[in-house]
Amino acid sequence: MQATAQPEAQQESALVSALHQFHAAADHLGLSDKHRELLTSFKTVFQTEFPVEMDDGSTRVFDGYRVVHNNAHGPTKGGIRYNPGVTLDEVKALAMWMTWKCAVVGIPFGGAKGGVVVDPRVLSDDELQNLTRRYTSELTPIIGPDRDIPAPDMGTNPQVMAWMMDTYSMGNGYTIPAVVTGKPVSVGGSEGRLDATGRGLWYLLQEHLRESGGGTGKGFAVQGFGNVGGVVARLLRQSGGRVEYVSDIDTALHHPQGVDTVALFAHVQAGGSLADWRGEGERVDLADVLEADVDVLIPAATECVISADNASRVRANLILEGANGPLTPDADAILLERGIPVIPDILANAGGVTVSYFEWVQARQYLHWSEQQVNEELQRLLLDAYREVSSRCPIGGDCTMREAAQWIGIERVIEAMDLRGIFP
Ligand code: NAD
Repeated sequence: MQATAQPEAQQESALVSALHQFHAAADHLGLSDKHRELLTSFKTVFQTEFPVEMDDGSTRVFDGYRVVHNNAHGPTKGGIRYNPGVTLDEVKALAMWMTWKCAVVGIPFGGAKGGVVVDPRVLSDDELQNLTRRYTSELTPIIGPDRDIPAPDMGTNPQVMAWMMDTYSMGNGYTIPAVVTGKPVSVGGSEGRLDATGRGLWYLLQEHLRESGGGTGKGFAVQGFGNVGGVVARLLRQSGGRVEYVSDIDTALHHPQGVDTVALFAHVQAGGSLADWRGEGERVDLADVLEADVDVLIPAATECVISADNASRVRANLILEGANGPLTPDADAILLERGIPVIPDILANAGGVTVSYFEWVQARQYLHWSEQQVNEELQRLLLDAYREVSSRCPIGGDCTMREAAQWIGIERVIEAMDLRGIFP
């Protein structure tokens, strides 16, 4: 778990990006004003200022949010972010992307997201636990296994999910494992959940390369070395790939023969960082990762890192979006012009929510799937989604994979909304 500070403009533009993408899709699909208004509204916007007792006896008040975008397909799903740069607009954007993502992979959830304005790296374990338990108790009236089901995101991890589950359960008097996903396996988590987002990226990359005939001889660059970036970098190395560049919030490493991302991931999992890594690799500028001369660039850190400012300097032949919203609409336009394809976030990083769905299913049935079963089902759902997106916009076609994925997601949500109608 790592936290990062982001410039404020960055998160505000996440919502600008999400709305821009939506309206472009709405224009293409010829959506009515009614559908546009419904889908740019947010079902629930919850905001809280809550106190936490700190180790030194002082009390600090934190800002927390939970936003439900749309629940036409079922209970809502989305991560909890702990980051000093969290804003309500950022949480709204992330919730909207969750709606389309769940619809694209065809799982019966709507979209939501939550966040607390905090840098978890500066908290002690006790403070982190106190904050998590108090935030969860603030959320208790609006979350639940049939209502809204949180999961980890940037700055949160399985331990945080275990505290959330325990707090919610204590409030109800019995254990309710399905209230959050991304828990440790020993308290009702799923095998394979920790790797799921990175593994999903890896499955989709293989499929895309098979379909497009692309190569990976020039290697990979991965920005962000947390749950998403660290896992995909590790899987690439384990499958013979050369990960030439990796970075976290303050350190970037380059090794022309490939950074040992298996050892580096173990080092980070054990509490280390790229800055204190003593393995092979030279330090380079953070910007070098995004502008690396590689085959595949995987931005797996945060929003809006590729914009009009740097999109013309991207040299990769393919971008695989591990993070949510790493490209601004301006960057999309520049990369389209330059013929650099993008496998979009709402498809590419959907492995996490897909295995979260499996975790929820297992928790509700008190079943335990093997890791093999989880991975096989994950691969099946993601590849089905990939093929649907790809058949809507074949390689070389007059559209982008982001557009096709958005169209599919929006159409499916509208179908569910229209079938349900408006109450009363
Ligand atoms: P994490 O907290 O585990 O790791 C984030 C990593 O990104 C850290 O290494 C951090 O140092 C680095 N980072 C942050 N800002 C950076 C910057 N500007 N430059 C370079 N590195 C930077 O978070 P995570 O769970 O891996 O999430 C990363 C992204 O993936 C987020 O956009 C998140 O919403 C998205 N995502 C996560 C999941 C999941 O299952 N965890 C699923 C889908 C999408």
